[in-house]
Amino acid sequence: MSISVQTFILGPIQNNTYLVIDEESKQAALVDPSTPSKQVLDYLESNTLDLRLILITHAHFDHISGVHWFRNRNNRAIPVAMHALDLDLWRDGGGSKDFGFELKPGADPDFLVSDGQRIPLGKNFFRVLHTPGHSFGHVTYVADHDRMAFCGDLIFHHGIGRTDLPVGNEADLFSSIREKIFTLPEDTILYPGHGDKTSVGEEKANNPFL
Ligand SMILES: [Zn+2]
Ligand SMILES: [Zn+2]
Repeated sequence: MSISVQTFILGPIQNNTYLVIDEESKQAALVDPSTPSKQVLDYLESNTLDLRLILITHAHFDHISGVHWFRNRNNRAIPVAMHALDLDLWRDGGGSKDFGFELKPGADPDFLVSDGQRIPLGKNFFRVLHTPGHSFGHVTYVADHDRMAFCGDLIFHHGIGRTDLPVGNEADLFSSIREKIFTLPEDTILYPGHGDKTSVGEEKANNPFL
């Protein structure tokens, strides 16, 4: 009944793209596909996994640049999930213009998630936490049973997300971390958008920004 995680480091900003696998059903969800990646497709194929879902923590370009490519593999549309408050950012190319280029992310996500929602993967599920601060519609996907949380650019190993970009808000970031992430069990593993994984307990004790 448990799930496992495969990490792929992709793209120029070294993003973590996570493949989350429900071991029993072999259903998989891809979190924040940063770039097109043959490596991920090969992994899916050689492990006979069924990619069912693309989960977006937030719409910054480095987290969504691979969505269009993965979404339309093998003539089968893979549904994309994201929070409605990041739709403007998505449609504007994920902030790419601020970095000197223009990303066209493709059609809007297929379904919009909200705080508290449960998204099934096999017999497991992800619980959605709305965790704004780095962007308005930033969410964290929590797999409670396996004590895992995919937290995008909200909190990193001994770091926190930027709030100086146009969609950032420092007060929101701190309350998202304190009220949503730090109320999870301490042994919950945090899988951030960049850098090493960590845990709730480690960041509570040793994160210098908090
Ligand atoms: Zn970001
Ligand atoms: Zn990022």
